[in-house]
Amino acid sequence: MRLSDLKTGEEAVIIKILGHGAFRKRCIEMGFVKGRRVKAELSAPLRDPVKYSIMGYEVSLRRSEASLVEVEPVSNQKSEPTPQDESTPHSADSQRKNEIIKVALLGNPNCGKTSLFNIASGAHEHVGNYSGVTVDAKMGHFDYRGYRFDIVDLPGTYSLAAYSPEELYVRQYLQDETPDVMINVVDASNLERNLYLTTELIDMDRSMVIALNMYDEVRKSGAELDYKVLGGMIGVPMVPIVARTGEGVEKLFDTVISVYEGKHDDVRHVHVSLGRDIEKRVRLMIDEIKNTNDIPQHFSPRYLAIKLLEADKPTEDIIKNSSRSDELLALRDNLLKEYDEKHPGEDLASNIAGEKYGFINGALAETYRSGEQNKLNTTHVIDMFVTNKLFGFPIFLLIMFFIFWATFSIGQYPMDWIDMGVSWLSSFVNRVMPDGILKDMIADGIIGGVGGVIVFLPNILILYFCISFMEDSGYMARAAFIMDKLMHRIGLHGKSFIPLVMGFGCNVPAIMAARSIESRSSRIITILINPFMSCSARLPIYVLLIGTFFPDHATLAFMSLYIAGIVVAMLTAKLLRKFHFKADETPFVMELPPYRIPTLKASLRHTWAKGEQYLKKMGGIILFASIIVWALNYFPIRSGEQTAIDNQQITAGDSYLEMAGKFINPVMEPLGFRWRASVAALAGVPAKEIVVSTLGVLYTNDEAVDEQRLGQRLKASSPATGKPDFDTASALSFLVFILLYCPCIATITAIIKETHSWRYGVFSIIYNTSVAWLVAFCVYHVAMLF
Ligand code: GDP
Ligand code: MG
Repeated sequence: MRLSDLKTGEEAVIIKILGHGAFRKRCIEMGFVKGRRVKAELSAPLRDPVKYSIMGYEVSLRRSEASLVEVEPVSNQKSEPTPQDESTPHSADSQRKNEIIKVALLGNPNCGKTSLFNIASGAHEHVGNYSGVTVDAKMGHFDYRGYRFDIVDLPGTYSLAAYSPEELYVRQYLQDETPDVMINVVDASNLERNLYLTTELIDMDRSMVIALNMYDEVRKSGAELDYKVLGGMIGVPMVPIVARTGEGVEKLFDTVISVYEGKHDDVRHVHVSLGRDIEKRVRLMIDEIKNTNDIPQHFSPRYLAIKLLEADKPTEDIIKNSSRSDELLALRDNLLKEYDEKHPGEDLASNIAGEKYGFINGALAETYRSGEQNKLNTTHVIDMFVTNKLFGFPIFLLIMFFIFWATFSIGQYPMDWIDMGVSWLSSFVNRVMPDGILKDMIADGIIGGVGGVIVFLPNILILYFCISFMEDSGYMARAAFIMDKLMHRIGLHGKSFIPLVMGFGCNVPAIMAARSIESRSSRIITILINPFMSCSARLPIYVLLIGTFFPDHATLAFMSLYIAGIVVAMLTAKLLRKFHFKADETPFVMELPPYRIPTLKASLRHTWAKGEQYLKKMGGIILFASIIVWALNYFPIRSGEQTAIDNQQITAGDSYLEMAGKFINPVMEPLGFRWRASVAALAGVPAKEIVVSTLGVLYTNDEAVDEQRLGQRLKASSPATGKPDFDTASALSFLVFILLYCPCIATITAIIKETHSWRYGVFSIIYNTSVAWLVAFCVYHVAMLF
């Protein structure tokens, strides 16, 4: 009987908990453990929740929850029940007497369910190579290893949609009967299609074992399947069987027992990832479902959330019976509407299916080698080249090269236009405003600082456009895939690759994207090496200095810098793996979603959102910092003529900024930095864009070169020393230093937040700055030799 049937004052012993995994876990945490005695303290027919006492505690459960706890009334017990004792496994068989495991066979039509049912139960049900004769279930039972198995052969379905009578029947069965263990029978010679149903069952978070049937066919075709790894990846144990002959069937039921007893190592609830855009909506839905406490616990919140977003009718009916149905359905409608607006002409339900196939493709790509020639579709053809052992990597490099070329070369044109505008504005202000502090502040502080950075907006937009195109088209997932082997060498997984590439845009969202990495140590390493991925805020410095000092080899210089960042990141990862984290590898699936040509509209919107962010930063922190830097450089106002001796020593005529720069300069001098460079680097800690705006403010002083571009001004000899502040060697060392040193404040905050430890934030500051100093030192001295 069920716990909900117990009357006030009656006692019973718990037999098992049904429902989804998270619910079972919560029950166990509350003390509802098999073998324990529970007493109904207050159970009136219409009262909810019901109060129970268990081990002297009082616990209340909703009636709907109590209906998922199977119990045996105490009076029926032959002997005084004892809580199950894990230390005496030998007597397990005898203890299991009378214990029933309810097993349901689920799978596509024609995958061999009935054959398995017959061989297990000794029945002689009709087996046939056609689908869907009758829509009903056949029951059978048998005893095995002390358990009694109640086994049900369900009608075959391709999915759990609510279209066909078979699908409706299976769903109703899973809801009403809540089998203890589901056996998902899979035609192993046709995995891609068969595993679709599996992904839906995984969402339910129930106990499950996969029977890889027709394994004889797999062997015959010469295909190879690493089912151990595959099972570990998807968190469901897999057992190869040949239902026709009975091969492997004992092993299958042994596995069912160990899953039932909660002893199987591979069992894990995996989220079949639906891609960022959909996943975001699923999360919102889940939170709302979890806030509604009278939804029956048969299905996991994630399953319900996905089904609701698929506009699934039976799930709507489940929700309609809850107290917050209006809110839930309103949220759902809202999310659907919003999705529709964002992806016109697309259908969320089919995109969910697409993502699920992506999950399957990714899992199979790593574990399955087909024996025969595959049927070819576009995705397969493209993947044959793109993920090819030989071509994959060169293709990736080529694409990266193109992106850097586009960022630099195409970006040059709009950059020139904006630059002209800024110069015009500057001379306009110079002409019309009366001399004085205000004019100096606007012309040198604001226009010099903000104007110096804003010209790089086109470059940043182009880079973002390319990154979003790679993500949306599905190529990014392939890049992660071909990187997998390489990433394993540094103790990470291909999945870390996407946050790393995203870091080229901005480290903050990239660090947050590392959440999708399941293993904690891999996640933290990915987070810590992310700042070495050169973010777009550092781009202006590269464009400025490379354009000035290496105009003939721009793309190459550009790419070398990015690669240098990657190399330092890899070495850091290796060191962290060696000295800080011992290896722990949870296998997981890398999705290979189908290729899609992203709509221009979506890509542009993506890109513009970044542009807007950038402009806001201009009006905010960068404007503010520019004025501060200008003021520190302006005051105290010098009396009389400025001394022409820029001797790197603090003198009475120095501005505050000069003093600060000269104060820290001894540390930076070995890198070839003059004091202005040191100040710019220091000023870049709040946000890297400020490096350029600071240079812009600092190099507007010289009247003679006022009309020229910032780059030319950097190259011009300083009137104080007669030599330019930057030469090729010091420009190079400055570039490397900016690439590697202390992450910006937003990134440090993200690191602390995502690792839940301020220590990692401090580590980044110290480690990155030290590495930057060392590498820049070497670069400077090597460059001096040439
Ligand atoms: P159901 O629709 O899932 O119940 O599938 P059936 O049990 O009716 O089997 C469908 C077809 O697959 C029948 O022709 C079976 O003989 C065949 N079959 C079942 N199991 C195996 C197996 O392990 N190997 C091979 N080669 N054929 C099998
Ligand atoms: Mg059948």
